[in-house]
Amino acid sequence: PDRILTPARRPDDVDAALRPKSLDEFVGQAAARENLRVFIDAAKGRDEALDHVLFFGPPGLGKTTLAQIMAREMGVGFRATSGPVIAKSGDLAALLTNLEDGDVLFIDEIHRLNPAVEEVLYPAMEDRALDLMIGEGPSARSVRIDLPRFTLVGATTRQGLLSTPLRDRFGIPVRLNFYTVEELEKVVTRAANLLDLHVASDGAQEIAKRSRGTPRISGRLLRRVRDFANVAGVETVDAPTADRALNRLEVDALGLDAMDRRYLTMIADIYRGGPVGVETLAAGLSEPRDTIEEVIEPYLIQIGMIARTARGRCLNPAGWKHLGLNPPEGGQD
Ligand code: ADP
Repeated sequence: PDRILTPARRPDDVDAALRPKSLDEFVGQAAARENLRVFIDAAKGRDEALDHVLFFGPPGLGKTTLAQIMAREMGVGFRATSGPVIAKSGDLAALLTNLEDGDVLFIDEIHRLNPAVEEVLYPAMEDRALDLMIGEGPSARSVRIDLPRFTLVGATTRQGLLSTPLRDRFGIPVRLNFYTVEELEKVVTRAANLLDLHVASDGAQEIAKRSRGTPRISGRLLRRVRDFANVAGVETVDAPTADRALNRLEVDALGLDAMDRRYLTMIADIYRGGPVGVETLAAGLSEPRDTIEEVIEPYLIQIGMIARTARGRCLNPAGWKHLGLNPPEGGQD
């Protein structure tokens, strides 16, 4: 979907340029950063590969960035792929046998690995070995190949999407949370410096407030604000400049966009505030259920606009207020 606010990666993101290169440069996620620092230093001290790490949390919060930083801090190579790209177990076998000692292998969307591929991963993670079948029929036999030491870094939106055997093989699960406005202000200011753009602190704050708690969105909004500023001949991006630009992108004061508002409005208008099932909403909005659950809802839940209940989604008082509507007389169903 063509949403400026979608936290998913888009081809026009020049993410690489803005990526922090060390743990110290990485803003926010203090708990994750401190833990990783300890594990990295310990592994280096023992001259071992780092234990396998699983990052989970909404898209755009820095999972790929942290994986790259880990490789850099360990002084090892970095290889990246993603779950859906590895079609056959042979593809994974090829990747694994090509690793160099200590490498970080990053698998994005690891919950989307097909089960046959996942089977290959278990002995690789546990015993650093690959069990290959050679031959067919009665003469088929299995041979075991040793692999180099490596660290698997997996990324997924929710830990619960992984099969239990896969989840259990990660020694270090790390949860990433939405960023605070203060943290995103730092992200925006840092990115502005890299883009050679002058942003006043109230301008950075305005962009931060409207970034849905997500650094990838901050970067994207900053680039669009820069376009507006350039065209308008504005030297310094202050809050009013940012506000004007973001309004034109239909990003509202809370950082919600047209899609978020359609979602909220549908629950309010058609389902009297809910509860309504996610499948029904997906059909009504013509969006895949995954997009609703992984992209739209997490932030709306975080800021208290909606609640996920056993019977479906419900609009909270904050949601009604944001839409400028009153809940129906006699309460919700
Ligand atoms: P994910 O893998 O979780 O989808 P990425 O690691 O690709 O997210 O990060 C998305 C973008 O946000 C990158 O361009 C990166 O520069 C920026 N970013 C993410 N986390 C931070 C951070 N803590 N500080 C600064 N920039 C960040």
